[in-house]
Amino acid sequence: MAMVLGGGYPEQQRRVSVDKRTIVFDRAGGLCEECGRALDFDRSSGDPDAVATIQHVNGNSNDPSNLKAFCRRCNVLDAQSRFVPVEPGSTEAEYAAELRKRWMSENPLRLCDDDQQWNDIWRILATEAKEIVRMHEERAESAGDEDLPGFKGRTDQGTPIQEF
Ligand SMILES: [Zn+2]
Repeated sequence: MAMVLGGGYPEQQRRVSVDKRTIVFDRAGGLCEECGRALDFDRSSGDPDAVATIQHVNGNSNDPSNLKAFCRRCNVLDAQSRFVPVEPGSTEAEYAAELRKRWMSENPLRLCDDDQQWNDIWRILATEAKEIVRMHEERAESAGDEDLPGFKGRTDQGTPIQEF
């Protein structure tokens, strides 16, 4: 919920390359830089809290100076410490109330909330959407309008939708 209300997680942007991960884990000597426990790199310890993670110190920069080796437990605790309460009456509070209603509802309130049917429904919707895109592109081509690049869907964040 916190992640959703916070506008999501810039996963692509924060993906750290293997090279940089290696630099950070080597620099930390294979230990969590917060609590000092030995990090688990291959899940051989059987301790989910000890799994090695990369912690962004400040913002989303992937420069090694902004990265730390953290165990998963310290990573989660750090994330939780950054949570801020939602102001009553704010847009976020309204959104949270809406999400809560959907979660608590006995029957799905939206198509995508339907665990049983959504798997089939989204395929139908995706097929229809592709057909609309194809028709639009055909029309753009036959109109000979070079400035009309064809319909491209976008998410609210402006990320082009490649596949549904
Ligand atoms: Zn730790």
